[in-house]
Amino acid sequence: MKVEVTVRIDGREVATVEECIAGPAIEVEQQTEALKDRVGQVVLAEGFLQLAATLRHPCCCGKSMQNKGQRTVTIMSQSGEISFKRTRYCCTECGHYQTPADRVICCGRHRVTRHLAKQISQLATIEHFTRLEQLMADQHAVHIGHDEMLQLIHDVGGNVDQQRQAEALYALERPSQITPKQRPKQVYVSCDGIMYCTNQREPCPSDPTKMRLIWKQMRVGCVYWQDDAEHWHKQVIWGQEDLPTFSASLYRLACECGYREADEKIFAADGGDWCWGIQDQYFADSVGILDWYHATEHIWDCGKQLHSDPQRMKTWVDEGLNRADSRSVGLMREDYLRRKLFV
Ligand SMILES: [Zn+2]
Repeated sequence: MKVEVTVRIDGREVATVEECIAGPAIEVEQQTEALKDRVGQVVLAEGFLQLAATLRHPCCCGKSMQNKGQRTVTIMSQSGEISFKRTRYCCTECGHYQTPADRVICCGRHRVTRHLAKQISQLATIEHFTRLEQLMADQHAVHIGHDEMLQLIHDVGGNVDQQRQAEALYALERPSQITPKQRPKQVYVSCDGIMYCTNQREPCPSDPTKMRLIWKQMRVGCVYWQDDAEHWHKQVIWGQEDLPTFSASLYRLACECGYREADEKIFAADGGDWCWGIQDQYFADSVGILDWYHATEHIWDCGKQLHSDPQRMKTWVDEGLNRADSRSVGLMREDYLRRKLFV
């Protein structure tokens, strides 16, 4: 069938989009999607043109910038590539160029719309980077190269992370201004360090002619709470910032999740000193618990050191695990335990 869509904007006929749609069901749907994209391109280009016309004349070095005329730019949107004209300005003092329309339409320095950048970034949080290019092409019929997408994700991620850290430090100076978003009775806080594989490479120490992938450490914090219907919820933060900033960020998240008002407060960690340091500084009124998984790891390590005979080692470890299991207080932090038992 021959489909013709006339696009009329503000009473003015802007374009006519035609598409021949035929074939098996899957192709009919694919061609329909392509038609929608072409209509989208027409509407978006007109929308961005109108938006650009409403922007104020920019200033630089205390002076109004010089109009350097219009230039056509092509950017990628969720409907595919679109082109529109926007005005460029130049500072007569410092020679700096500005295109105000790009600032509101594009995602940073990238020739990608903000809406599309959001979708790419969301997808990058759940999928491996290497699969993004194909996924965007399959799911949205959007073709952006792997490297360009990677740069975009790094820019967006870096920006969001900087904002989170700034907010955490701001909250640290004004803790009373952190408003709890819920009021649960129980709040559990935990933190840990994890290793993750980057896409950067370095020379292999054993054979410098070969390159290996670089692994980096990251701190992860999690806050769990139970609502009135006894459903558990969780929120997670992670980052590579310094310890004080990470600690402040975790405290802020916990306060937002109702930590300060909760009746029962638990802080679970793996036994790393930096974790207990966070508890001492921000969560001193919580019960510190060494998490079960890490506790069993320590018991196994100890068993291996004490016994070389596998059978004797297993007997020793089994007894240790049983003891730890039967005495739940055995996994609390030693100083808390001392307080609880002897004070
Ligand atoms: Zn200037």
